[in-house]
Amino acid sequence: MRIKFWGTRGSIPTPEPNMIKYGGDTACVEVRVGKDVIILDAGTGLRKMGASLLTDTEWDGKAHLLLSHTHWDHIQGFPVFAPIFQPGSELKIYGAFRADFRLDECLEGQMSNLYFPVKFRELPSKISFTEMIEETLQIGGARVSARALNHPQGSFGYRIDDGKNVVVYATDTEPLGDQPNTNLLELASGADILILDAQFTPEEYARSKKGWGHSTWKDCVAVATEAQAKTLILFHHDPYHDDDMIDSLVLEARNFFPNTMGAAREQVYLLEAAQAVADAVPGVQATIQVPRDQPIRVSYVERANSIVFHLPEDLSLFNSQKYVQALCSTVKAGHRKIVLNMTRLTHLDSAGVGSLASIYSFSKRQGVPLCMTNINKSIFNVLEVTRFTQLIPTFKTEEEAVA
Ligand SMILES: [Zn+2]
Ligand SMILES: [Zn+2]
Repeated sequence: MRIKFWGTRGSIPTPEPNMIKYGGDTACVEVRVGKDVIILDAGTGLRKMGASLLTDTEWDGKAHLLLSHTHWDHIQGFPVFAPIFQPGSELKIYGAFRADFRLDECLEGQMSNLYFPVKFRELPSKISFTEMIEETLQIGGARVSARALNHPQGSFGYRIDDGKNVVVYATDTEPLGDQPNTNLLELASGADILILDAQFTPEEYARSKKGWGHSTWKDCVAVATEAQAKTLILFHHDPYHDDDMIDSLVLEARNFFPNTMGAAREQVYLLEAAQAVADAVPGVQATIQVPRDQPIRVSYVERANSIVFHLPEDLSLFNSQKYVQALCSTVKAGHRKIVLNMTRLTHLDSAGVGSLASIYSFSKRQGVPLCMTNINKSIFNVLEVTRFTQLIPTFKTEEEAVA
């Protein structure tokens, strides 16, 4: 595994002479797993990374781009990433599933012609999107796990495991006060390289930066220690912290966690090559096929002009467009509300949230309000991370939902 830092800065680029060592480009980290190219975030550092790929004779034209979230400092390099202008190159983009704003809309939006001369749809390269929930996918030769972090509008951290080494990228995250950040600790557990958000000094944070969605070197040290990480890399440097200041923060952190580094411009970390390829895990993205002729049974009751669907426990059924179509065609004029009773639903994966998004779009098109009820805790967590809970009202009981 080889890790290279192309962009280390948070918030906004800082092309200033006293910030050359740690670098002025925003978030972009390259991870090579064998020949597979995995890119973490598309901040302005992506421009130079793209140029380097084009001169790399070993590169096969394919890359995977994992986006932590879509704040500017994590996507601004995308329109100037040279490979997207190359016919024959292939980019797979991954990011959090958000019911309120889909990933393709976001990247397309930043290239609308108010902001950029070339339209996203006119790009000659092959680009695809995978919207993730908190799950593990096989991406090239690595298993990649995503967990939601604490940040305004949300953010995803990623754990990349090639079977031999683990690198964890968890930026744009703020501690949860007195509560342990179980998601972050789970990602970070035993990491060889732990890249964490260290934007503010503890003093800045205490004075005026609470709620901004970032951490301090002290928070990073606490996570690295508890997670028993091997190397801690302070990342997402504040635009007002120059090289001298970051040097001093790194030194301070080393008093508590000796193996601490500051992410620096074009710095490379080499980890021992994996001996065996990670066990292949079938992508959770795979569409589950419902046999062609199997009739789809949609279970529902009509109550006080509402139609209440009792969603199946069978994941393959709920995750099928066929089921969604059958459900939607059951809704008739005169139904004033659609209620999804989730008592039986115990699993919801990324295909399932896609089904739910289709039902939500249908309800909007038809002008019939949609609500959800009887949601178990783990399903509720998925619905929160994907922001469905902000779009679709939820109720404890079917009675309340119908009323
Ligand atoms: Zn950021
Ligand atoms: Zn952010």
